[in-house]
This record gives sequence, structure tokens and C-alpha cells, in this order.
Amino acid sequence: MKSQEIRSKFLEFFQNKSHSIVPSAPMVVKDDPTLMFTNAGMNQFKEFFLGNGTPTSRRIADTQKCLRVSGKHNDLEEVGKDTYHHTMFEMLGNWSFGDYFKKEAIHWAWELLTEVYKLNKEDLYVSVFEGSEEEDLPVDQEALDLWKAIVPEDRIIYGNKKDNFWEMGDQGPCGPSSEIHIDLRSAEEKAKTPGRDLVNNDHPLVVEIWNLVFIQFNRKADGSLEKLPEKHVDTGMGFERLCMALQGVKSNYDTDVFTPLIKKISEVTTSEYGKSEETDIAIRVIADHVRAVSFAIADGQLPGSTGAGYVIRRILRRAIRYGFTFLNQKEAFVYKLVKTLASQMGEAFPELRSQQNLITNVIREEENSFLRTLDQGLVLLDQIMQESKDKKVSGQKAFELYDTFGFPIDLTALILSEKGYSLDQKEFEAELQKQKDRSRNASKVTSGDWQVVKEAETEGFVGYDSLEAEVEIL
Ligand code: ATP
Ligand code: MG
Ligand code: MG
Ligand code: MG
Repeated sequence: MKSQEIRSKFLEFFQNKSHSIVPSAPMVVKDDPTLMFTNAGMNQFKEFFLGNGTPTSRRIADTQKCLRVSGKHNDLEEVGKDTYHHTMFEMLGNWSFGDYFKKEAIHWAWELLTEVYKLNKEDLYVSVFEGSEEEDLPVDQEALDLWKAIVPEDRIIYGNKKDNFWEMGDQGPCGPSSEIHIDLRSAEEKAKTPGRDLVNNDHPLVVEIWNLVFIQFNRKADGSLEKLPEKHVDTGMGFERLCMALQGVKSNYDTDVFTPLIKKISEVTTSEYGKSEETDIAIRVIADHVRAVSFAIADGQLPGSTGAGYVIRRILRRAIRYGFTFLNQKEAFVYKLVKTLASQMGEAFPELRSQQNLITNVIREEENSFLRTLDQGLVLLDQIMQESKDKKVSGQKAFELYDTFGFPIDLTALILSEKGYSLDQKEFEAELQKQKDRSRNASKVTSGDWQVVKEAETEGFVGYDSLEAEVEIL
């Protein structure tokens, strides 16, 4: 099944269950000072859960463009190294606002996966909230009974508060969740280790595909929980992971969501995919990052020097740097991938097609200017090497290069080691830490899905900039 069909089958399925299908909200959030990027399907419905306003329909479904590079959800370091976390991905979701609850949510999820998509039932594991003594909450018996009627008990996993209890923030709506995980390993591997032992264990072929959240409590300011008068359902399914499962491949990057891009990257950079781990990681990082950056620009967020624009700039620079270091790309190349992306994703997201020229031009400009920076950095690094004693470069110097010229530290380290120089990494880390402490003191750390901006703080609130310190994209 092609990805296009997988996406529309999801929407059709919920439309047939009386859901209104709504468009994805923009990935770049413009009107919420507490959130820079959409990181889950439910973001655009936050106000409904908080009881501010009513949705046009009590049942809604969509596919949402998400970006997870900051705050509670920061998957950046995983991207490219693993095969199932992206910065930008689509989250398929269905919602009930005070309408249906656990029974329908669970039955429909199962029906869709096993009857419409025809996934192998034996490959699916489900999790249920085990309860919490601290919160004085019992096991989620309702969900457990529903699942027991569908799957054998050895495929039900009991999850703790961390994995199976969702909260919007320090206060507000929350509730237990049930996740669906899939085991895509070979029969031989399955015989050796039961899939249930690998759930939530970072195994690339035993992955979480769908999270069903049952919002039934409100966390009050004093930390206590009260029952909500209206119960809600909030679900999120990773589209690219679903495609991996349905297309019988072992990596999101081997699905047709990514293969045209991977092919194009190989062609443009003359590097073969699947030959060496280092090259493969670079190719995956570039395939991932060009999506994040292109979707952001299509949403109107250009790379820039502050806030969301700065995050986008650094994601693009990261892609350029991987190309520069591992694929020997000394000239702009990322912009050449936009056309492929637009033709692959443009039907579902027409903004990619209508903005294709803008995206291409902006990326090319950014690339050229960063490559100039890299060139200048290389000259300075040469000087530093000449001035250094005993082929030793101080962390302080490397930090200056990084901080003032945006010259990436891993590149510095690579060049130095190639030329037989040593770098005081510890000193560099210390300098970096000092800088982080400085900016952290000037900002607030986000730990929930939303940062709660207290009234006193909104005065002189510096907006997105304050979140910048958290985005650790070197
Ligand atoms: P994981 O445990 O794999 O990091 P999660 O629990 O953080 O996922 P949720 O917040 O529950 O993810 O999001 C709902 C679904 O979105 C997940 O079940 C998964 O299929 C998908 N998903 C989450 N993060 C990513 C990502 N970085 N890239 C692609 N898909 C993702
Ligand atoms: Mg995660
Ligand atoms: Mg998870
Ligand atoms: Mg989850």
C-alpha cells in the first residue's frame, strides 16, 4: 500500500465513524508564546480540552505536521542514527471532545489496524496504565478489560506513569493512555526474544505506533487530581512508522515517504545508500532535515537569527554540515532536493508545491552563506593551528570559533585530528556549559508540552527567544 493510500484510508475510516476531517495546523506555531512548534496532533485542540471554546464537531480526525526538536519532545539526537524518529513527521489522530471514550477508541484502533490495514494481530502489543500509589490511582481497569477481550494477556503490558499517563503540563487535563506497539522482527528473532520484552526498549523493529490518551482528570494547582465532567480521547499515530509496518520494510527511510528523497540525495551527492553506516546516517539526516526545513518555510517561517527562525536555520546547517563532512559536499546541494520532496508530498500538502520556488531559493541562499562561513572558519582554524604549541589546540579557541563564527565543533575536532592536532574537548565543554548557564538563567526551562507563562512573566516576555537556549543543535 502506498503512503498516499495509507493516509487517506486513515481519514476515510474515521470519516465513516462520523469524524470531521480537518486540515493540519501549521507546524510553526505563531500565536502561542508557550510553544514554538506543533509537537503533537492535539496542540491545535488544546483550548477545547481546557474548556475554552467548543469544537465545530465532537469528533475530529486529521494528519498533523509535527516537529520535535525542543522542549519535552526533542528527538534531534536520535534522528538519522535510528530509523524511526524524525524531526518532522506526520501524526495521524482522532479525537473525541466529550463524546465517545475508551471503548470506541480502542475498538476502532484495533479495527483499523487489523481489518483495514490487515496488520498481523500477533505482532501487536498493547500497554495499559498500571496505576500509581503516589497518585492513589488504580490500574486502568476499563482499558484493561477492553483489551483483554481483544488480545491475549501475554501481549498486554502494564506501563508506569512515565509511559502511560499523559499530562498537558504542570496543571490541566491529563489521563491514562494505552499504546500500541508493533514487532517487525523476523520469525527467528521473535522465537529468541519475546516482543513484549523489547517494548519501550529502543529496539528499531519493536516500535510504538499509536498512542491513545484518555483524558479524564484535571490536575489542579495544588497537584491533586479531580475528575473531569467531560471525558475526551486524544490519539496520535506515527504515519511514517505505520508505513514501515504496512510496506514490509525495516526502516521508515525505506518507505515510499522517503525513498524518492534518499535516491535523489544519493544521485546529487554521488554517495550510495546502504554501503556504510556513517554515510547512511548522513543521508538519513539530510532526508529528514530537508523535510523539516521545507515544511517550515512553506508555513512562512524563514531561517533567521532569532526564535523559530533560528531553530530552522540550525536544522538546515546541521544537514549542510553532515553533507560537508561525510558526503564531501563543498557546494550547495540541499536545495536540489526540494523538487523531489514537493512532488512526493505535494498532493497531501499543497503548500509545498505552491511555495516550491521560494523554498528552493531560500535554502540555496542559506547554504551559500553558511558555506562561506565554513570557508572562513577553515582559514581561522589554520591560523589557530599555526599558533598552537605542541600541536595542542585549546578548548577556548575552539569555542571562539564555534561561538563567533558558527563553526561546528565536530568539524573542528575532525580537521584537527586529521592533521594530527589534539583538542582540549573538556575545556570546550566547560565553555559551552558556561554559555548555556548564562542563557538558561535568562530563560525558563520547558518541561511539559507547554511552558506555563505566569502573569508577572508575560510583562517584558521575550517570546520564542527564551526557548532558544534549549535547542541544542550545535
Ligand atoms: P517514542 O516513545 O517512540 O519516542 P512517543 O511516546 O514520544 O514515541 P507520542 O508522543 O506518544 O510519541 O506520539 C504519538 C506517536 O507519534 C507515537 O506513537 C509514534 O508513532 C509517533 N512519533 C513520536 N515521535 C516521533 C518521531 N520523532 N518521529 C516519528 N514518529 C514519531
Ligand atoms: Mg518520544
Ligand atoms: Mg513512547
Ligand atoms: Mg507515546
